[in-house]
Amino acid sequence: MSDSANEYKGKATMEKITSLAKRRGFVFQSSEIYGGQNGAWDYGPLGIELKNRIAQSWWKEMTQLNEDIVGLDASILMHSRVWEASGHVENFTDPLVDCKKCKSRFRADQIPEEALSAKKCPDCEGELTDTRKFNLMFKTNIGPVEDSAGLIYLRPETAQGIFVNYKNVIQSNRMKIPFGIAQIGKAFRNEIVTKNFIFRTCEFEQMEMQFFVKPGTDEEWYNEWKKRRWAYYERLGLKLDHFRWRQHGPDEMSHYAKDAWDIEYLFPMGWRELEGIHNRSDYDLSRHTEYSGKDLQYIDQESNERYLPFIVETSAGLTRNVLMVLCDAYDEEQVADKGNDDDWRTVMRFHPTLAPVTVAVLPLMKKDGLAEMAQDIRRELKEDFATDYDQSGAIGRRYRRQDEAGTPFCVTVDYESKDDGTVTLRFRDSMEQVRVNKAELTERLRREIKEYKRAK
Ligand code: ATP
Repeated sequence: MSDSANEYKGKATMEKITSLAKRRGFVFQSSEIYGGQNGAWDYGPLGIELKNRIAQSWWKEMTQLNEDIVGLDASILMHSRVWEASGHVENFTDPLVDCKKCKSRFRADQIPEEALSAKKCPDCEGELTDTRKFNLMFKTNIGPVEDSAGLIYLRPETAQGIFVNYKNVIQSNRMKIPFGIAQIGKAFRNEIVTKNFIFRTCEFEQMEMQFFVKPGTDEEWYNEWKKRRWAYYERLGLKLDHFRWRQHGPDEMSHYAKDAWDIEYLFPMGWRELEGIHNRSDYDLSRHTEYSGKDLQYIDQESNERYLPFIVETSAGLTRNVLMVLCDAYDEEQVADKGNDDDWRTVMRFHPTLAPVTVAVLPLMKKDGLAEMAQDIRRELKEDFATDYDQSGAIGRRYRRQDEAGTPFCVTVDYESKDDGTVTLRFRDSMEQVRVNKAELTERLRREIKEYKRAK
């Protein structure tokens, strides 16, 4: 397919995903009734469940499964010297150009080179301004007086909260190098261009883990973390051919990085960064030593060595992961289940551990005690699973609604259920149905979740 055909197809897919996200309550535009707020989105009932599950899966991977990693939740507002020390005040900039005619703003590194050198707006051919540096940090004031003494930034990354607490964590939890600190939280960047739905926003969430190692072992740990992060996405049953590695060239490397690789995902608009894995060297701790005047060296109790640890960072966007999971799960499929070849369904093929609803309970009819029996089953299942209950409309339409929400299992209660205590268990991906005794449902669902393999 040509580039423009690909771009067209990508846009159409993204529009479908955005519209499904709104229709089904995954993501809404922020402040929609006021015309919307650029760069900000709200997560609806299904969206917050999906986001929470992605966060939980990452948290489990980092902390529960790694005894040498502990968690932290640092504040968003930090001392403004932190951002001088980190280099963000000086270096966290994007090159900005404006069109004098149509007033559009562009990142100079994201428009065609010919347009930039001819100073021609890529949208309206109007004249572009000179390129100037634009700092991405949001500034605000703390305290009642708006002066420079109260200047404070909204954090543009969660990592600095970890660096400034690393000694506290060592002392309070007796951590020994190598060890890591994991954190999930909001970050803010005054992005010049926010497009592609929730891909690049001004308010977003990150899942970052900083791993503190002895200098000289950093490259080994760096490679280890690259392997672990790839294996993590592999285990989530995502489309692996939509993942690839990309190394940063010397000209695009962040000011702190010794080596940097991105895991990129093939979004509908093309390959884009999903997560960065960085060897941050001892840059951050040496800068914080210099700016705070505190000794941040690690003291090895056994060998009595003192040194500034190197840091290997894995930095993933949580909200960007939500978009990735939505894109990865989205599928349209022609089905002939009612003898009608023209019937299509939209199905979100979420991994059961990420799906907002794990099991929906549906009575075939509301009457004859089927609804009551279905509600009893739901009451039992909700102790262990995220459940939904739906009794309105034809059963086929209810299945389609659950397919769109990405619910991997549906339990249907029918007349046979009343006679022999069995129910229909329907699988979202294959649409296959089996009879299961209701007393065995919990165990069966647990096993299905554990053994889940995505077919398409
Ligand atoms: P990009 O090149 O896309 O601007 P970056 O290299 O500046 O990203 P990092 O600073 O490495 O990103 O941030 C780590 C992760 O945080 C990214 O991989 C991405 O998933 C997420 N992220 C960064 N900026 C944004 C944003 N504006 N909106 C949503 N997620 C973001």
